[in-house]
Amino acid sequence: MKYYSTNRQAPEADLRKAVVKGLAEDRGLYMPEHIERIEDSFYENIDKMSLQEIAHRVAQAFFGEDVEPEALRQIVYDTLSFDCPVAPVSDNIYTLELFHGPTLAFKDVGARFMARLLQYFIRREDKGEVNVLVATSGDTGSAVANGFLGVDGIHVYVLYPKGKVSPIQECQFTTLGHNITALEIDGVFDDCQRLVKTAFMDQELCSHITLTSANSINVARFLPQAFYYFNAYARMKEQGWTRTDGHESNLVMCVPSGNFGNITAALFGRRMGLPVKRFIAANNANDIFYQYLQTGEYHPKASVQTLANAMDVGDPSNFARILDLYGNSHARITAEISGATYNDQQIADTMRRCYESTGYVLDPHGACGYQALSDLLAADEVGVFCETAHPAKFKEKVDDILGIDVAIPARLAAFMQGQKQSVPLSSDYAELRAYLMSK
Ligand SMILES: *Cc1c(COP(=O)(O)O)cnc(C)c1O
Repeated sequence: MKYYSTNRQAPEADLRKAVVKGLAEDRGLYMPEHIERIEDSFYENIDKMSLQEIAHRVAQAFFGEDVEPEALRQIVYDTLSFDCPVAPVSDNIYTLELFHGPTLAFKDVGARFMARLLQYFIRREDKGEVNVLVATSGDTGSAVANGFLGVDGIHVYVLYPKGKVSPIQECQFTTLGHNITALEIDGVFDDCQRLVKTAFMDQELCSHITLTSANSINVARFLPQAFYYFNAYARMKEQGWTRTDGHESNLVMCVPSGNFGNITAALFGRRMGLPVKRFIAANNANDIFYQYLQTGEYHPKASVQTLANAMDVGDPSNFARILDLYGNSHARITAEISGATYNDQQIADTMRRCYESTGYVLDPHGACGYQALSDLLAADEVGVFCETAHPAKFKEKVDDILGIDVAIPARLAAFMQGQKQSVPLSSDYAELRAYLMSK
């Protein structure tokens, strides 16, 4: 498979290059040149298949030309060592729980897949150790660090701003040891990002050690997110919760969105024949995409802080992929995707109302999805929203809003008992450079 850049000013790349580089030379995002429509018999039998079997078939459509069959199967099965179940919440509304992975959020799926695919390419080429540099304000660092933990041949350096990350988040990447090193930067998130960018442009450093990024726009993190939408359809069909006539479906998929990677993977799924009637992108107060749907105009702006902070994005990077997928047509986009936007007050009200009427504990991100379905679902439709993270990841806020004591899952508690290890560095690039040159 060849990958082209959404800016169309860079040469096409093969999968290996797209994964190792992340971003194209023209700063566009890579797109696969074909999106394969999967055969009807797959959809007819999907309800009898497991998550792993389904994901394997979807992975073949994306990566089958570039990865040997047995290796691809192994990568998929290793990635999905946990379930992505669907459960009813209220009339016609179902949750797709994406928080059963090691760091309790959907980013585990893409991060684990990318780590294993990168390892596959490194092993084939015998290139020695590869170093992943990642800057984080919290959640990305934990998903990437845990995705790569124990993967031979790859060392991960997580740069995070000292004192600016919650203790629950910090312990998920500072206690791991092995091939994961946390670099505690005396600065803010923007300093961490600047240091990473500067390192990638430093040719002397790059000839000394092999550097790569694990940004969320990487095709190896982005495309595997399609897997669980197929599983959602399978489980809905299996339980008789959705009806389908051929490819006519009454299923509405609702995705709490920030950078729009997760929902874009779902849109790819529909191109592959997945029977989804339409999509809803649920925003918090950062409503740039919502405004685009209403007006046809896209105006990026500085993000504002909200309760659902993993969605605090003022210029969603995957917007370029959505435009590309729909040929830049606002009419075609609004025919398949609608939007919703909720402020913190509304998010908290939704969490309370849902908990009181159903007993289901929403996290602030999932709450946007649940509320959008409550507001926009027609009588003959059924809706599935992504519960993108476990409520315990935002324990203080959730406890405070609901007046309960959310239980911390064992795998999160285990992180919190680990010994923090980090390397303190200033925000001066020379210091990071000297550190990496000594490796
Ligand atoms: C990253 C994240 C989102 C936003 O997903 P995008 O792919 O950036 O749209 C939503 N919820 C949680 C919990 C996240 O970590």
